Amino acid sequence: MPAPWKEINLAVRPKDMPAGGWFSRNGAEVTLEVMNAPSLHQITTLPRGTERRALRVAVLAPPWITVPPPGYGGIEAVVALLCDELVARGHDLTLFAAPGSHSATRVCSPLQATHADQIGSSLYESDHVAVAYDAIDRAAAEGGPFDVVHDHSGFTALAMADRVSAPVVHTLHGPFSSDMCPFYERHGHKARLVAISDFQLEHAPAGVRVADVVSNPIRVEDWPFREGKDDYLLWMGRLDPIKGAHRAIAAARAARMRLVLAGPVQPGQEAYFRSEIEPHVDGRNVVFAGEVGGVRRKELFARAKAFLMPISWPEPFGMVMVEALACGTPVIAFPEGAASEIVLDGENGFHVADVQAMAEATRSLEQIDPARCRRSVASRYDAAIVAEGYEDVYYRAIRSTAGAGPQFARHGQPESRAETIERPPRHAARASILQPAS
Ligand code: UDP
Repeated sequence: MPAPWKEINLAVRPKDMPAGGWFSRNGAEVTLEVMNAPSLHQITTLPRGTERRALRVAVLAPPWITVPPPGYGGIEAVVALLCDELVARGHDLTLFAAPGSHSATRVCSPLQATHADQIGSSLYESDHVAVAYDAIDRAAAEGGPFDVVHDHSGFTALAMADRVSAPVVHTLHGPFSSDMCPFYERHGHKARLVAISDFQLEHAPAGVRVADVVSNPIRVEDWPFREGKDDYLLWMGRLDPIKGAHRAIAAARAARMRLVLAGPVQPGQEAYFRSEIEPHVDGRNVVFAGEVGGVRRKELFARAKAFLMPISWPEPFGMVMVEALACGTPVIAFPEGAASEIVLDGENGFHVADVQAMAEATRSLEQIDPARCRRSVASRYDAAIVAEGYEDVYYRAIRSTAGAGPQFARHGQPESRAETIERPPRHAARASILQPAS
């Protein structure tokens, strides 16, 4: 049996990188690597002859926070950017999102209000998804079907993905924690699953097929680049212990540097905030800015000497790191989850093992070139690169369900069965750069 192919999406690459120089072989399995861009990305080389046409895409954002978000809201920021980029590329999108959302595309809001204080409530999530799926089915019944549904909204949409009249692409915005594995094992096959980092792909539970990796996007030109930095460290995120604001305080204290903390105290986080954070906030050495947005947020990122990321969870991506780097601000991170691929040790920041090492790394920051930080983001996560990656994912999702006919709405099949038949032409087409495993 030949070893399985791990493929690379030729579209998802730095624009200036010649395709011929990209890949190397590694042992029995053909592993394709992108030089200079360790976390880049795989999997969906489109077969020759794939028709690249404008698509009708229904995008489901979560119902909790508007798109774009006024402050905190990683998924909503991703959805906003992706919609803009896909519309600019000629696709016809309908975005289902919280009321008050706006986008370059048409927006439908199934619910009456946002519910930022009840994130995860099945009452609102199921309502949001059911109304969106009804609208998608109605469009099909009226002769204007969507080609594909792109879901960012969470569990309900995935669990019901085989009941809607278009193939569903589901972006995995959360980690594969042990309590979620049975869910993905039961329902993962109903959609084409997309991981947002290599780490997340590699940690998918056995039996759960993740078809692609496409990173979260950033529009680098939206973020101010600043070479000269002020004398403070920055931590930004939700005030959940896994994100490590309390460890950032300890690291900044050990480094004898000023720390600015920013983020919302979400429901359930009040006790942690009161006991672990608030007592240290003195307005001088430790400043708490609350939830920030707009220009203030960007200025905080751009002026910081370094961004601290002392996480203790399998971070599936981590937009804050990418935003800091886009501003030319190095990131000092515990190399957990995707932090180990976004942060390139010694190039755009440092990997550190603990709080003490984080404090020590602040003394080496002059080794890091801010321009290199920004480039490390532009070359890997730029919105145009990511949108192109999703286009490929959509085409493949459509191809793999083509021919399933009207039955598809009730009997969608795991995509992997259809995919294998596409391989011979692809290998032939890539003969100069892909070699089969021996
Ligand atoms: N954020 C913000 N204001 C804040 C705190 C966070 O706008 O006060 C944004 C932050 O810039 C990032 C997002 O919220 O875009 C958090 O996304 P991330 O992927 O870092 O974390 P998670 O989604 O796990 O909470």
